[in-house]
Amino acid sequence: MTEKLYDNDAYGRDFSALTKKVSYTGDDRWLVECDRTLFFPEEGGQSSDTGYLNGYEVTHVSIDDEGIITHEVKAGEDAFLEGMRVMGQIDWDRRFSNMQNHTGEHILSGLLHEIWGSENVGFHLSDNTVTLDTSRSLTKEDLAVLERRANEVVYKDLPVLCRYYDAKELEDIEYRSKLTFKDSARLVVIPGVDICACCAPHVGHTGEIGLIRIIKAINYKGGMRLSILSGRRAYEYTARSHEIIEELSHKLSEAPDKLAEAVERLQKEIALGKEREAARSRAALADLVASVPGDSRDAVIFADDMDNISQRNAVNRLAESHKGICAVFAGLDGDYRFIISYPEGDARDVAARLKEKLDARGGGSKEMVQGSISSTGDEIKKVISGMTDPGE
Ligand SMILES: [Zn+2]
Repeated sequence: MTEKLYDNDAYGRDFSALTKKVSYTGDDRWLVECDRTLFFPEEGGQSSDTGYLNGYEVTHVSIDDEGIITHEVKAGEDAFLEGMRVMGQIDWDRRFSNMQNHTGEHILSGLLHEIWGSENVGFHLSDNTVTLDTSRSLTKEDLAVLERRANEVVYKDLPVLCRYYDAKELEDIEYRSKLTFKDSARLVVIPGVDICACCAPHVGHTGEIGLIRIIKAINYKGGMRLSILSGRRAYEYTARSHEIIEELSHKLSEAPDKLAEAVERLQKEIALGKEREAARSRAALADLVASVPGDSRDAVIFADDMDNISQRNAVNRLAESHKGICAVFAGLDGDYRFIISYPEGDARDVAARLKEKLDARGGGSKEMVQGSISSTGDEIKKVISGMTDPGE
């Protein structure tokens, strides 16, 4: 199997190695196996290191069941030979961020186990998300306690100790692990906080994590999925959150701790405004309907834009007291939506006439038609009165 340099040297950035097996897969892509490597492969829910091998970009690193690590490298056809010496360099900023986030997860999992007897049942660490699945559900208050305690562990700057233990030693040690080990296990020990079998690189002291944040918690498979951030990523998240709060605080002219109340107040004002607007439009509609003389046979009104329901209600109201063509045209002059009822006739005849004379569009039933028309109020009135006025 490949010698894992990162096991004993989490802080190594450069290394040299001999290639053991190389293959070119086409499309500027190589699979390169070396006798040793500093690249941590994708394993245990954590994405792999990236970096460079002989100056060529390492895009992904994998490990098989035999412990053989393979680098996926972006390079031309003649880049590698078997048995050649290569220089490797890992993307340190990314690696260190992974070390911070991974060790942060150990602290949270250790505390969850110690305080609530909750087991870690899943972990995912990628460039976009860090999640920890825990077997028990916790309250908001519990989560606040957990985050506070985790940060206390950061302040204490405890050592993070990693080494292999043989089967005999392991007999007497109680440790967390998702894996079963035959002969030996690599234990990661944060004294008084966590003991866990783990193969990844960790920071040397908890103080290097700087900050641990639990940013989201959702119920998941009978327990919870916590979205967590540690180190630089926690700082960047917190800094961005602060920026957002400042911006809102400025826009709403309120102190940050009064923002929720200010938003509630705004929501109430908006709701009240909508209610007033609805009442105004109901009153305007009633006025409009009342403006048609009670003894006229037809009732045709033109209104500014109104919603479909109000328009339909108005037509129904008109049809209660007028036997002729009852129509409401809504919109701008020359661009109307219409709804028409014709109690003593067939509304479809009106739509047909508007279509024939003014190129209107729409249709419906005997009782009611609706559609649109690009004509002026005068043109429309003329066509309608021509239908019911026997003189025309
Ligand atoms: Zn670990």
